[in-house]
Amino acid sequence: MRLSFRPRIPGPAPSRALWLQIAACAVLAWAWWRATPAIYVPPVWPHPAQTVAPETLAAPAPAQPPVAPPVQSASLGANTIEVIVQANDTLDSIFRRLKLGLADLASLRALPGLKRMLDALKPGEALHLTERDGDLVGFKRRLSPSETLNVTRDGQGFSADVLKNPLETHVRTASGTIDRSLYEAVAAAGARDQTALALAQIFGWDIDFALDIRPGDSFAVTYEELFEDGKFVKDGAVLAAMFRNNGRVYRAARYVDPTGAANYYTPEGRSLRRAFLRTPVDFTRVSSTFDLHRMHPILNLIRAHTGVDYAAPMGTPVHAAGSGHVRFMGDKGGYGNAVEIDHSQGIVTVYGHLSRFAQGIHVGSRVNQGELIAYVGMTGLATGPHLHYEYRVNGVFENPQSVHLPDALPIEGEWLADFKEKSAPLFASLDGATVITLVAR
Ligand SMILES: [Zn+2]
Repeated sequence: MRLSFRPRIPGPAPSRALWLQIAACAVLAWAWWRATPAIYVPPVWPHPAQTVAPETLAAPAPAQPPVAPPVQSASLGANTIEVIVQANDTLDSIFRRLKLGLADLASLRALPGLKRMLDALKPGEALHLTERDGDLVGFKRRLSPSETLNVTRDGQGFSADVLKNPLETHVRTASGTIDRSLYEAVAAAGARDQTALALAQIFGWDIDFALDIRPGDSFAVTYEELFEDGKFVKDGAVLAAMFRNNGRVYRAARYVDPTGAANYYTPEGRSLRRAFLRTPVDFTRVSSTFDLHRMHPILNLIRAHTGVDYAAPMGTPVHAAGSGHVRFMGDKGGYGNAVEIDHSQGIVTVYGHLSRFAQGIHVGSRVNQGELIAYVGMTGLATGPHLHYEYRVNGVFENPQSVHLPDALPIEGEWLADFKEKSAPLFASLDGATVITLVAR
């Protein structure tokens, strides 16, 4: 689009008074232009105000006093337009509407990885286009609550960056007492499902949230809420939490250690995690419990069931219960395809009836807790897809559902003082919230 303005005055040459009037208008227009934010919301394009270039207007007014120079010479004459995307709009149609060069759009699209970020405009979303004399010099699109695409002219071409949107963090403490479910109690305390889920994850090592929750159990949780321009975007991390289950109180605070790893610890610095997952698979149901006197469904004779059977759809991922190294992988008779992991200190876990093994896993592989090792199947003696899982200590079969699982490592000694200093106010905020809850009841 060309930004130019020629006063069309019919009849004889303009009088001196008219020129003065134009000069006065020019000063006002310039002042208005300087004071207006760079972003306009034009109800229609072209907006009448934007067809007027202040420099052009100011030109025929030699008597006018000097005006403050533009802050950035690069932005001189540049014009940022906020476009609210309409139904059926494409960048193509928007560029045509704004009379912007389609070649610029083509070079924008040609930038590596950018096509995806330019497609699928959502009606109602705002795009910010900056142009100078019909040439695109800048383009901004919010990709997500946390990211904005920022394209700027770079010589003949363009360069693109994905910027992090600045988010404001508010710390909030919520507390409540469970009547029916944790989710309902968390919602009643003004927090969201994500916080309920975080509580279940933090304390899930000690409390079975499906079976152990009692009416009257209570919680307090201090967590972050992230805002942008005063609008809630999402929940951040849970900083500290307390859960009272059946009279027992569990407390935890989050600590990001100097290596950047975040974990939850008790006030004494013990890890809330265990060295082993209780169940190494997302199961549908327990199809057979640990029972040393069981009638075998296929062999039809009393035969000890030395593990737990977790029924799960074919192909469900199976994870290493704890860190260790793979000591066996392959076909193992009635177990079908099986993996055995040696966790040292006499502990071995066994995974049977697998359909296949995960890529990169072989005998001798070092695996971490939670790492994908194989997939649920029904190889060997199995009536349906399930994982047969065993936990052995010094060659003795233990019940995986009830065996005492060793704690994960506590906080490093050298970081303990730092943790205690940082977590003290968090634990204090939880205790304060708990007192309020007790008073309120
Ligand atoms: Zn079994």
